[in-house]
Amino acid sequence: MNFFFPDSQDLVDPSFDFDSEKRSDTRIRQRDDLYAHELFPKPPYDGALVSKAIVDGANSGSGRYTLGQQRRFMTEGVREFMRLPDGMEAMGDCGAFTYVKEPVPPVTVEEVSQFYEEAGFDYGASIDHIILDYKPAWDHCLPGIDPVPEPHRERQEITIQLARQFIKHCRKQKYVFEPMGVVQGWSPKSYSATFSALQKMGYRYIALGGLVPLKSPEIMEILETIAPKVKPTTRLHLFGVTRLDHTRKFTSHGVVSFDSTSPLQQAFKEDKNNYYTKTRSYAAIRVPQVDINVKLKNRILSGEVRQQDAFRLEEACLEGLRAYDRRRYARKKLINILCEYQEVCGSTRNYAEMYDQVLTDRPWKDCRCKVCKDLSINVVIFRGAERNRRRGFHNLYVTHQRLKNIRRRSAVA
Ligand SMILES: [Zn+2]
Repeated sequence: MNFFFPDSQDLVDPSFDFDSEKRSDTRIRQRDDLYAHELFPKPPYDGALVSKAIVDGANSGSGRYTLGQQRRFMTEGVREFMRLPDGMEAMGDCGAFTYVKEPVPPVTVEEVSQFYEEAGFDYGASIDHIILDYKPAWDHCLPGIDPVPEPHRERQEITIQLARQFIKHCRKQKYVFEPMGVVQGWSPKSYSATFSALQKMGYRYIALGGLVPLKSPEIMEILETIAPKVKPTTRLHLFGVTRLDHTRKFTSHGVVSFDSTSPLQQAFKEDKNNYYTKTRSYAAIRVPQVDINVKLKNRILSGEVRQQDAFRLEEACLEGLRAYDRRRYARKKLINILCEYQEVCGSTRNYAEMYDQVLTDRPWKDCRCKVCKDLSINVVIFRGAERNRRRGFHNLYVTHQRLKNIRRRSAVA
């Protein structure tokens, strides 16, 4: 099973200095920055997934590219723009989540397919419309009772119609990329019906969408319902799903690939589980920047906190962490300072126990990835995009290592 990483312009600046927290004055964003596949000697994923919506932001301001980058992406193509290593595949999709609230997708088959072809993608997904409901019970209603809301059926119909137009158009234009059909549904049977329709149209690579909020047994239920229909030549992709514990079962049902941003996002969007290891995850240590943290700034402005106290504690936390890494600082004392600063920042959460675990175990010392080697304790400090994103890159590395181990074991078995 291959892991595709969805691009959201997550790059790090190699000129950033973690002690002074300064970067090169001459640095040009994106051009001088590094993607995760450039930072490590070997890429921490097998392929890149790029949404049209992220590139051109046509829908609801979801774009992450500047106008200049957009132009460069289209002239250079996805491979050159993202500096993808040889052999790494690029998959394109529409970013259906960006128009989920619209009655119909705001893009046309012509626009989307032209985007994939001109940017040189290996695979391009058909236009789908997400159905925000999952109700397996609707598959077992008495005859004559139809509980499925009309808008759900409409979205399924739109998804099927657009998939039909898409594959026809790609064939007519003799496009080089492989069209990928996207399935949406609200239950195992409805997923299965859409899947059959797409397979019949000639799709040989079919993705299941709308799975993000589903629990693993629910995903399995859908796959088991589809399985008897999957032709030996048909491959399946799962959009937005990392469930490594189920890799073998997914594979046995024809799944060849998946994509997910969770390893990156958990590094800085979750309360705990920010730093992965092979067997568990740890909370990162929060040391907010006095001059950037809004909550803290407001407390200083209102007179609740003295600015010099905040600066002093911030510095003491960073100094303490650096010294702790060199085994020159007591753990308990460090945790006390960290918690004191947390209180000054207005946090009601007590992380003492979580910090004690990560500081005692020093997991960054055991990781062989380049991020941990270069950053040492900085990788577990929750502070600014340069540290937080690199911790996300480390999580990608751990995820990919785990996946590679599973693949190796299945190959041997
Ligand atoms: Zn690491």
